[in-house]
Amino acid sequence: MAEGAEIKKTPLVKILGRAGSATAYAIRDYLHRSDVPFEWVQLENDEQARTQAGVDHLQDSRLPVCIFADGSRIECPNLRQITEKLGWFRSPLHTEYDLAIYGAGPAGLSAAVYGASEGLTTVLIERSAVGGQAGSSSKIENYLGFPDGISGADLAERARKQACRFGAEILLAREGVRGEFADGKGIGYLADGTQIVARSAICATGVAYRRLGVPNEEKYFGAGLYYGAGTSEAQLVKDHQVIVVGGGNSAGQAALNFAPLASHVRMVIRGDTLKRTLSKYLIDRIYTTANIEVLPRTEVVNLAGENYLEEVTLRHRDTQEELTVKSHWLFACLGGEPHTKWAEEVGIVRDLVTGPDLIQGGRRPANWPLDRDPYYLETNVPGMFAAGDVRHGSVKRCASAVGEGAMAVAFVHRYLSQG
Ligand SMILES: Cc1cc2nc3c(=O)[nH]c(=O)nc-3n(C[C@H](O)[C@H](O)[C@H](O)COP(=O)(O)OP(=O)(O)OC[C@H]3O[C@@H](n4cnc5c(N)ncnc54)[C@H](O)[C@@H]3O)c2cc1C
Repeated sequence: MAEGAEIKKTPLVKILGRAGSATAYAIRDYLHRSDVPFEWVQLENDEQARTQAGVDHLQDSRLPVCIFADGSRIECPNLRQITEKLGWFRSPLHTEYDLAIYGAGPAGLSAAVYGASEGLTTVLIERSAVGGQAGSSSKIENYLGFPDGISGADLAERARKQACRFGAEILLAREGVRGEFADGKGIGYLADGTQIVARSAICATGVAYRRLGVPNEEKYFGAGLYYGAGTSEAQLVKDHQVIVVGGGNSAGQAALNFAPLASHVRMVIRGDTLKRTLSKYLIDRIYTTANIEVLPRTEVVNLAGENYLEEVTLRHRDTQEELTVKSHWLFACLGGEPHTKWAEEVGIVRDLVTGPDLIQGGRRPANWPLDRDPYYLETNVPGMFAAGDVRHGSVKRCASAVGEGAMAVAFVHRYLSQG
């Protein structure tokens, strides 16, 4: 991956595609999160598609085309192909690990740093790029040790390097889909058929963004509608109207990130005020930024546009008054649902309930096989831990995710030595 500021300035990948392409967005988002410099070339007509991308016309299914630093090209690649091309796609080196971690957000990366640095053979499995939600933050300002703030992608890249330096293996573009636990060993099944055998596991799979719940939503995903703060898109909103839905810190950061280039940013919130949901340092800046307008008690009720998003209809929750805004840029920052569906099959109490929360009325969870209480951060399956946003009752912050990742490793040691 990119090493240092100088390399960052030279694009390692050139992406050529048409506006409103969901695949092109996924690639931009992935590269941005991975801190890989890229150049986006938006093709406007058939002539440009032919001469610049070498395809027949603008609607050609071979778009987007990615051209890499060595001159090679891949047409309409998926994230795995890009990961392979960048040389990051790895196969597991061991047949068995001390610790398998699922999810490379702040919690998983922290667990990998502590696990590997404390001598555990550690593998970290991530379905997309490192960084998780934090990787999509334009600037994290409340993380200890960075008084001027740090971009999520930068923080994630530093953590990735740190984990690798200690010997953690990171398997990117691989998704854990199922798990089994028997005889003191867990087997994680990845979507591509790979099996990961480990004596302990930490689930750090975070949360998925909530949907808006409006008709046609899927049609516009990646084609005007984006879930999350859309940091990779910030340069593309120049002189456009942007709508950010949500009143949390991620929405606040997104609005402030778009404001310098966008013509106007509307922040759509269901509640009366930002005060209850947003940190004070962000509220002050939002209310003093001239082109950010906060629309309280408002929700999105309709999306329209032929090939990509062109219009968004907003409705006031009390007066029912509607406003239709011409916009190609709608970012839904609606917090999330924990990624825990897989856990149901394994009999783990969801949403990843851990430690003392598993003790109900002084009794241990049903089927708990050991003569001790579950350790703090341990689920009702011994040796299987949870850390970060995915955990029931977690504090949704980078620092707490990082702290839980480190803490979970301490309990992994105890489990591996004492059962
Ligand atoms: C835009 C934005 C800005 C934010 N700003 C701040 C801030 O300024 N300060 C702050 O303290 N907090 C901030 N937060 C919150 C903070 O980022 C989260 O609390 C934190 O990232 C949670 O970390 P996590 O590791 O628990 O989960 P996540 O960050 O959600 O990471 C989970 C990872 O698991 C992966 N995954 C999911 N399922 C699987 C699977 N089956 N197999 C493999 N991998 C999987 C995901 O792809 C993801 O990479 C922000 C969040 C957002 C979205």
